Amino acid sequence: MSNKRKDLWGIDLGGTKAEGVVLGPGGLKDILFRDRVPTGAEKGYQHILGQIDKLVGMMESRMGYRPDSLGIGTPGTLDPRLGTMKGCNSECMNGQPMKKDLDGILKMSVTIANDANCFALAEAQMGVVKEKFPHARVVFGVIMGTGVGGGLVVDGRAIGGLHGIGGEWGHNFLDESGGPCYCGKSGCVEKILSGPSLEKYYQSITGTRKSLKDIYALYKSGDEAGTKTIHRMSHFFGKAISVITNIIDPDVIVIGGGVGNIDEIYTDGVSSLREFIFNNKVVDTPIVKPMLGDSAGVFGAAYLTA
Ligand SMILES: [Zn+2]
Repeated sequence: MSNKRKDLWGIDLGGTKAEGVVLGPGGLKDILFRDRVPTGAEKGYQHILGQIDKLVGMMESRMGYRPDSLGIGTPGTLDPRLGTMKGCNSECMNGQPMKKDLDGILKMSVTIANDANCFALAEAQMGVVKEKFPHARVVFGVIMGTGVGGGLVVDGRAIGGLHGIGGEWGHNFLDESGGPCYCGKSGCVEKILSGPSLEKYYQSITGTRKSLKDIYALYKSGDEAGTKTIHRMSHFFGKAISVITNIIDPDVIVIGGGVGNIDEIYTDGVSSLREFIFNNKVVDTPIVKPMLGDSAGVFGAAYLTA
């Protein structure tokens, strides 16, 4: 469905705020609207719908028209067959037919996608991939922060998949040492490579809880437990990402989130990938940091309608 104009409208829906953006044809240099409202998720699902309606009203009054379509990025997923939300950390959204409800309230066609898919889409269409690898067709984006998520973009489209779990690398099995995960399984990528999981590992060998930033500083000063923690990260990063390279062999991999700021991912982590990839220890895949920072979520949401 095409918009009345070529602008892209998107909303990044978080637990505390909903941010809206309207992008003109010039993309990053052509931001026509950008503002936010509190989500107030604690007030329940109907309140969230009302806040989205309010934000779209603000977008409409600035732009002077209402488009046919709008993209929304959320931490959860719209189950494409059931039509209901799942995996949202704002739990009142889970089980709700959010697309159907918003289509009715907003009188437009809403596309809902996971925020890791939006991250991958934004970096592919407006960010580091567009700037440095403009010919890339298959892009895998990873967020390694308090949780671990992933999104797959092929030819400028986020691949949601049959169940809406396309790209959900964070809950692939990686190693039993990660222990039980909230998802009901154990040893998930997230239980090894998220910031809190690396902090927990450091605590398990020292008895002391420290932030990843402090652990990294200790590693830099040659501390043994700090070194073990950062080596664990690099080793398992390569092992976990080899599953991606061996199946979809992306043209570019973009790593976001706080753990993605650690430079050893791009050196020791890639060395580890050489050990695990099914390609005679050759890795030519560019593995890069993102360019858009916190803006990727809302820009990617807008690109859902492109
Ligand atoms: Zn899990």
